[in-house]
This record gives sequence, C-alpha cells and structure tokens, in this order.
Amino acid sequence: MNYSIVVDAGHGGEDPGAVNGNIYEKDFALEVSKYIYDRFRQLGVPVTLTRDTDETLDRNERVDRILSAYGNNPNVIVLSNHINAGGGEGAEVIYALRNNSTLAKNVLDSIGAEGQLTRKYYQRRLPSDTSKDYYFIHRLTGNTQPLLIEYGFIDNASDLRKLQNNLLDYGEAVVRAVSNYIGVPYVAPDGSSSNVYVVQSGDSLYSIAIKFGVTVNELKGANNLTSNLLSIGQILIIPRTTPELTPPGGYIVYTVQSGDTLYKIANNYGVTVNDIIEFNQLPTTVLSINQQLLIPTNQSPPPITDGVVRYTVQAGDSLWKIANQYGITVDELISANNLTSTSLQIGDVLIIPGDIEEPNETPVPPTSNVIEYVVQSGDSLYSIAKKYGVTARELQQYNNLPSTLLSIGQVLKIPTTEDYIVYYVTSGDSLYSIAQRYQTSVDEIKLLNGLTSNLLNIGQTLIIPA
Ligand SMILES: [Zn+2]
Repeated sequence: MNYSIVVDAGHGGEDPGAVNGNIYEKDFALEVSKYIYDRFRQLGVPVTLTRDTDETLDRNERVDRILSAYGNNPNVIVLSNHINAGGGEGAEVIYALRNNSTLAKNVLDSIGAEGQLTRKYYQRRLPSDTSKDYYFIHRLTGNTQPLLIEYGFIDNASDLRKLQNNLLDYGEAVVRAVSNYIGVPYVAPDGSSSNVYVVQSGDSLYSIAIKFGVTVNELKGANNLTSNLLSIGQILIIPRTTPELTPPGGYIVYTVQSGDTLYKIANNYGVTVNDIIEFNQLPTTVLSINQQLLIPTNQSPPPITDGVVRYTVQAGDSLWKIANQYGITVDELISANNLTSTSLQIGDVLIIPGDIEEPNETPVPPTSNVIEYVVQSGDSLYSIAKKYGVTARELQQYNNLPSTLLSIGQVLKIPTTEDYIVYYVTSGDSLYSIAQRYQTSVDEIKLLNGLTSNLLNIGQTLIIPA
C-alpha cells in the first residue's frame, strides 16, 4: 500500500491558537510541520502542507486542502500539529473514531522516546452526537487517517522549555513512527539508517529483518536478544545496513521467495538452471521458501556503453536504497524508469539518471571558484550536481560526505568554473544574509539582478557572483 502524508499546521494568521504572552501555538505548529514535511520529502514519501506561511485558514479551506491533496482515502495520513493549553503537561494524540489506535499509539510512544511526557492517545466524541468525532480534523476529513498531535502545553513552564528546545526532536519522532507504520525504511537526518522499530502485531524477527534489509542475527546482535520471541510494543534497534556488494566472478546469496522456480531465478540472473544446481550441489530441483541459494556471477557490473548507468535489482533492494546509493531521489529514479509502482522484482534493470562515475576516480580537479550552496527542500546530490555541471560523486568526495543523504540547510561546497551562480530564495532569506553568505554586497546583488527594492519572494531566483 502506498501512503501519502498531509501535514497540517494548526491555526495560523489571525488565529494564534493557544497563547502564552507573545508565544503562539500557530508558530510552533508551523515550525514542526515544515520540519516533518521536509523530512518526508527526503524519505521520498509524497507529502504536502496545508499552510507554509502564517496564513489564516478557515475550517472549510483547511479540510478542502487536506482532501484535495491525495484524495479521500485511508492511505492518506493527516498529521495535524498543535500545542495544548489549559494546565496539563505532556503530549497526547487523538485519533478518529473510524481508525484503530495503532498509529496514534506509535506516534505517542515515539515522542515519549525523545523525552517528552506522554499523557494518552484517545478518541473524543461530540457530546451532542456521540457517533461523531469531537474535532473537525477527524469528523470532516472523510476516509483519511488523521492524527491530532498535541506536543505539549504552552502554559506549562517545563513543556514550554521543551517546545522551545526539543520540538523538532518530537517532529522527528513523528516521522520515525509514521515511517514504520507505512513501511518506509526510516533514515535519520544524519543519514544513518540505524534506528528503532516498534514491534507490531504479526511481526516476527524474520519479517522485520526482511523489511529493513538486515539479517535475523544482525537484529538479535544489535538488541542483545537471546530468543526469537518478540512482544508487541517492544522497541528494537535496527542496525545500519550496508549495500550488498557483488564480487565479480563470485556469487550472491538469494533467498527463495514464494512462487520461485529454479528456472525463474536462473533467468533473472542470466545463468542456467544447471549453473545453480551445480554451484549449490542441489540434490533436487524442488525449492523451499526462505532457502538460500548461491547464484554464481561471473559478470562485472554492466558496462556503461551509451552513457547510461544501469542497475540490476538484487535481493533486499528498495527504490530508496538504490536511489541513496547513487545520490538521486526516489522521484528521479521513478521518472527515469517510468515506474508505475514502487515494488521491484529481482533482476529488473533500472536506468540510473545522471553521469555517475565509478568510485575512486581521480579527485576533483582544482577549479577557479568554490561556491557554497545551501541545501533546499527537494534537493538531491544529483539535482545539485546537475545544476552546477559536476557529478554527484564529485560533490560527495569534495564535501567528504559519508552518505548521499542531504539535510535541508546543510552547506555544500561546489567547485565551479562559472562566474555566477543561481540562488533560489528560501524562507528567512534577506538580501543582506545572502550577500554575507556569498561574500558579496547587497548593492552588487541588486545591480546584477536589476532589483529596485530589498524585498525578496520565496522561490525567486537571484544571480550571485561566485
Ligand atoms: Zn490547536
């Protein structure tokens, strides 16, 4: 099932929500909503925001935006972000009468794991008609799965301190819990895929291992487990995964899936049935599910013959994993291959967009200019590299990046021979801050761009001397 996310920043504009002096709920709600939105974009999950500015939204307009984003269906998860008031302490999550409590509980537990007190997850009914939800975000949002998340109390001193210091950690907790719920491999903002998973009903060590592309033994090792028994709600550390490498002239390990035959597997890997039988000394051609086969491979990775890099899908691969390996986004991978679904078959050949070089190529040659680029929402190493005429690999090496994942606001050094760069104005920018960042002056930027005022619009492009 493919999920989409609508992030709803509560209140806004003329509606400040809860207030404590000059501190407004609407601002916290916007801050955490933008963060969650950016993170889901990084993770390749379809996501929209109901508002990304301090905008007044009436109830109908808000519901309209929610229902028109991805349609009115249960695969749409609505995260409505709020701050409480009224003399309590801690976080709570309210879910709709039409939904079960799984997601609400996971989200609240995850916020709790970041150190916030957790009050409760619950449903709330309209007193005048108890068949209906109390909150419109549940009542009027059709068949979607909405959560009203209250991160803490604005009028509680301890909560307020946490909201001011840790709100984005709680946002990250929501991202983690929702990613687990919708089956998207969670990757922390620092690019590490080591993280926690909350055991659900029906899980086994084996199914969790498969989901995250690790082995049962790795899972047991990372969690010091002595038995295979799990309990619902148990928190497991998921160890970091490394991409499987296929040694040329060696073999890969393939786990037999339901519906496999020797013939099908042989075909997928471009070998013969006899190759597999001999290599594995199989006494019979009957396979059992989860049986591990060694598949001989005497092929090096496919040669680049026409400037196009091709990748053959291996066991344990996901679009996300492949995209990450090549420094591109899942979206870019999908559009380069005209994929209509995100599920992959082993042996599928994918086109990797961009001019990817093999690792350990010669280092980036010295160039006349190095510019600093601030990563924007929606960027990938590949899209940035393309913009500046370098390769993703060069960027990664030049910046000593341990992975190809970027975080918004991260500064990349980009070697360039161009004299000018194109800068995209983002929220919070001023001519002054941009001039400072690029060691130029406000006047020079205005002159170059023919600006008559100091006002900038988000998304506006500026020419900046490199
Ligand atoms: Zn509110």
